[in-house]
Amino acid sequence: MSATSILTLYERLYAHYGPQHWWPRRYGGNWEIVAGALLTQNCAWRNVERALANLYAAGVDSADAVLSTPLPALQELIRPAGFFRQKSAYLHSLAAFYLKHGEEYATACSAAELQRRRRELLALRGVGRETADSILLYAFTQPIFVIDAYTRRVSERHLGIADAVSRRYDDLQAQFMAALPKDTQLYNEYHALLVQFCKDSCLKKGCGALCATLAGGEGGVEAGETDSVNCCAAARHAAKNRC
Ligand SMILES: [Zn+2]
Repeated sequence: MSATSILTLYERLYAHYGPQHWWPRRYGGNWEIVAGALLTQNCAWRNVERALANLYAAGVDSADAVLSTPLPALQELIRPAGFFRQKSAYLHSLAAFYLKHGEEYATACSAAELQRRRRELLALRGVGRETADSILLYAFTQPIFVIDAYTRRVSERHLGIADAVSRRYDDLQAQFMAALPKDTQLYNEYHALLVQFCKDSCLKKGCGALCATLAGGEGGVEAGETDSVNCCAAARHAAKNRC
């Protein structure tokens, strides 16, 4: 089965689902996105929503407010998001960082400057590549593509990228960015579409009905027996690597 190209898959997903309106934000402001990107590590989004609801209900609705909330109180508020002791400390340092750099980071910049900002974010405790890139793309509208376990799964199963599940984050990101126009809104939509597609069809346990329709080969080839075997292998890899 021939692989679907990175751009073709985007076009099919977008045609099927339409705009996803990410980042899912309830309260407004970039800080909510930054906080959500950190809290969602190893945590289902519905639990992040509960943690954010606690924070905002308690008036802890800005980076300033987070910094002036003592860690024990912060831990109680974000408890639904899990790993609350670690995450409260990370949230504090991220809040300090945001207050210092938030305005600057939202400005347009060169590719080299974007990499510099990314390195600064990555130097913070608790901020890995997926979190840093989510913050840069969704909070600061910078043109950088987010890679996550879903991206890896779909890449390996449908895009012909054989080692996508184990490939270095930056290598897979470079491959996506080389195949796509440099377009912040497209990066925004594509990541959100991949999340939706994996929730609907390209499941951890294997491919569903929509996979052949949306992510089949260029000729719309149905997923065959061989593909199912590969999907199972990919699912096992993904299960191991997934947070
Ligand atoms: Zn699939």
